[in-house]
Amino acid sequence: MGVVMIKCPGTGRAIPTGMKSERDRFRSSPVFFARTFCSICQTNHEWFAREAWVHEPEEEWRMSPRAAFALQPA
Ligand SMILES: [Zn+2]
Repeated sequence: MGVVMIKCPGTGRAIPTGMKSERDRFRSSPVFFARTFCSICQTNHEWFAREAWVHEPEEEWRMSPRAAFALQPA
């Protein structure tokens, strides 16, 4: 389970939409249209499902420098 993210068209930064989904389920979901309030721009952005992706926090942990460091021999 992850958070559905979109790219802010104003700043290019990833912002959470507040939606949650599983990556495979989201990928196979029908195309839809949604609107998300962007806290950076203080405005609503409209987006299509194909522009969005699912961000899974446990992946970030696995790829973090700290996790990579822990795998190195002492
Ligand atoms: Zn924005």
